[in-house]
Amino acid sequence: MLAGPRPLRLVQAGDPVLRATATAYQGQLSSTVLADLIEAMRLTMHAAPGVGLAAPQVGIGLRLAVLEDAAEVDEETGRLRERSPLPFLVIINPEYEAVGVRRAAFFEGCLSVNGYQAVVDRAADVRLTALDGDLQPFQRDFSGWPARIVQHETDHLNGMLYLDRAEIRSLTTTDHYIDRWAHLPIETAARDLDF
Ligand code: ZN
Repeated sequence: MLAGPRPLRLVQAGDPVLRATATAYQGQLSSTVLADLIEAMRLTMHAAPGVGLAAPQVGIGLRLAVLEDAAEVDEETGRLRERSPLPFLVIINPEYEAVGVRRAAFFEGCLSVNGYQAVVDRAADVRLTALDGDLQPFQRDFSGWPARIVQHETDHLNGMLYLDRAEIRSLTTTDHYIDRWAHLPIETAARDLDF
């Protein structure tokens, strides 16, 4: 597959690979192949475009994801969502835990659930433990939108989609999201969609 075209094909919901618990990375790929996979995933995430991509989304059941968010949103949206730039990051065998009790509810989407968005209530602050792209262990705290990305991508490795955690009545097409909800408070969507 890594010899094939770029970007890689994105797996859509309904493929069992998205519902399986991904296997811990324990040297199954050579360092060269691992580096090729990470680069292919980075290109695929950029092309989509998206702010995170987990290996199962390209059909590979390993605990590996890439994250990057240029946070190119207007100032108000960025402030409300605490969306600050997240430089490119590789996470291997990641685990997260909530730090504190702060929560945040916002619409989010997924490259494997093409064309939809839904509100997900998540921990606003998390502590990530993982290996980096050089297989070095690290621990790092994330807040706001980067914390949401960390949770979303790590959940993929546990066979979860954001819809499993979503306020399901908030489900909206991306077109409706852009037209109606992107610039309104979540409370307005909650009232009008009754979730
Ligand atoms: Zn996703």
